[in-house]
Amino acid sequence: MLFADVADVFDRLEVTSSRLEMTSILSEFFKTLEPGSLRDIVYLSQGKLHPDFYPQELGMADKLVLRAVASISGTTGKAMDEVWKREGDPGKIAEVLIKKRAGQMSLFSEPLTLDRVLKNLALIENAEGRDSQDRKMKYFSQILRDSDPVEARYLCRIVTGRMRVGAGSMTILDALSEAFGTKGDRPDIERAFNITCDLGLVAETLASGGVDRIREMKVTVNNPIKVMLAERLPSIPMILDRMGGKCAMEFKYDGIRVQAHIDKGSVKLYSRRLEDMTSNFPDIAEELRKQCKAERAIIEGECVAVDPKTGGMLPFQNVTHRRKKHGMDKAVEEYPVKIFMFDILLAGDEDMTVFPFGERRSKLSEVFDLSDKVGLTAMEIIGTAEEGEAFFGRALGMKCEGILAKSLAPESVYRAGSRGFLWIKYKKDYEESLTDSFDLVVVGAFHGRGKRAGKYGALLMAAFDEESRKYCTVCKLGTGFDDAFLAELPDILDGYISEDRPHMVDAQMMPDVWFLPTIVLEVVAAEISLSPIHTAALGIVKEDAGLGLRFPRFTGRIRDDKGPEECTTVNEVLEMYEMQGRDCDPENSRASD
Ligand code: AMP
Repeated sequence: MLFADVADVFDRLEVTSSRLEMTSILSEFFKTLEPGSLRDIVYLSQGKLHPDFYPQELGMADKLVLRAVASISGTTGKAMDEVWKREGDPGKIAEVLIKKRAGQMSLFSEPLTLDRVLKNLALIENAEGRDSQDRKMKYFSQILRDSDPVEARYLCRIVTGRMRVGAGSMTILDALSEAFGTKGDRPDIERAFNITCDLGLVAETLASGGVDRIREMKVTVNNPIKVMLAERLPSIPMILDRMGGKCAMEFKYDGIRVQAHIDKGSVKLYSRRLEDMTSNFPDIAEELRKQCKAERAIIEGECVAVDPKTGGMLPFQNVTHRRKKHGMDKAVEEYPVKIFMFDILLAGDEDMTVFPFGERRSKLSEVFDLSDKVGLTAMEIIGTAEEGEAFFGRALGMKCEGILAKSLAPESVYRAGSRGFLWIKYKKDYEESLTDSFDLVVVGAFHGRGKRAGKYGALLMAAFDEESRKYCTVCKLGTGFDDAFLAELPDILDGYISEDRPHMVDAQMMPDVWFLPTIVLEVVAAEISLSPIHTAALGIVKEDAGLGLRFPRFTGRIRDDKGPEECTTVNEVLEMYEMQGRDCDPENSRASD
């Protein structure tokens, strides 16, 4: 297959912002592919050679890529600088310069096939050690030399990690069900993705074995599973009511969520963003290996820093020392942690995700011996509001954030990748301000004035709308930043600058700088109110009004454990708005800014 055909599809995807159109372009294309090529193309459409959780290092620096473009297109350093200033995207630059060279293609150029591209990308990825930069440059130049302008655009974007054609994983799943199944098969196809986190594998399985094979897919060790999430309600009686009068309640620990994959003694730990965190918690990995009685298991738990003398839990800041990339030996020694396990998704060869919560919890206690580093979350079966309040009080006494109520109903299976009322959280914050904290995505920035001149002064923050799959703004955030954070902001954000408003951002407010939605910050606010300018839940509570946060403040916590799609959703903002309830009559409430 020619790479030109793939690049042509990427090009068509890039110019449309209609999800329906993207789905139809993709599904038509998918139908023409062999299952193996389909798998590769699905990864490539996300700018990757492997699934998301696979640690990959294609990452070529812009400078290196531009050097290759300059040499192939015969452009001088000065001319290069000029286009670089104007375009700022190596993909566009390559396209412009290679277009100029058109007609001067070497007689010796070979056709650029998908196989050749994949082979060279793999070589680039695996180039390590001395001279690795030169070798990367050589492999890249070999394919760039034979590319046309559009192919060059995508090759440069893939190797520099800028491949964003706008078709996210949900659009790919839509296209796969359109190509190989029916609308009714969509939930099964999505489940297959949620329990494997591998779009390419799902695509290949579907194309080669049909929907029946998809339904047979099970959780497997070393394929991380998308995490199940909790809804929220404003009081314990409401939670009990929703749970049918009885539920399990657990302490809600304030730490780092970890999914452990244990396979005959080897252990891998994944964050909720699917990053490999084994090297951050080697002590926990080793302890889980020792304490696990099954040959294989996948469990989830919260890693919390503990005081080595008393065994008591320490505040969240302590465990963040374990998220660093370097100096882990010292951090392991200085910040001891304990994992509080709360779920089991695989036991031996049994896929536990299909069992109700009660059975999973019993299995979890059966499969592990406990120790001072490996424990279970505190849990009680609760049948009255008094019992619930008392349990909540004990959770706060132990410095936990609150409680998680878990359904005991027969249908309380592990819903990978979904937020629902099978789990309901209730936090101390709800008692005080009626709202939870928000994890919001930075989509823009405003230049600072006065003391903040020359820096970013405020940020435009958004929540994710799962339906439209757009980021809708909820506040302009300028409070809670200390000097160090303000100084650091350009480093954190500037890699994601976008020339125009990214098409997945829905905003009326115009910031000075736009960003591709990437960085997630934790924000608290006094209240959610109707807003004439913000686009979250626009027109839902009131015509022409969205929802916005009043007096938003950054808590100091960058949620680098969350990807943009895992941030607070518009639906959650709406629910929290409704939780504020009658105290906050929309007509009387002041509009947020
Ligand atoms: P939130 O991030 O506020 O939506 O709360 C959900 C998070 O609470 C989960 O992703 C876990 O990291 C954490 N958590 C703490 N304790 C528990 C527990 N007992 N069961 C499930 N999740 C828990």
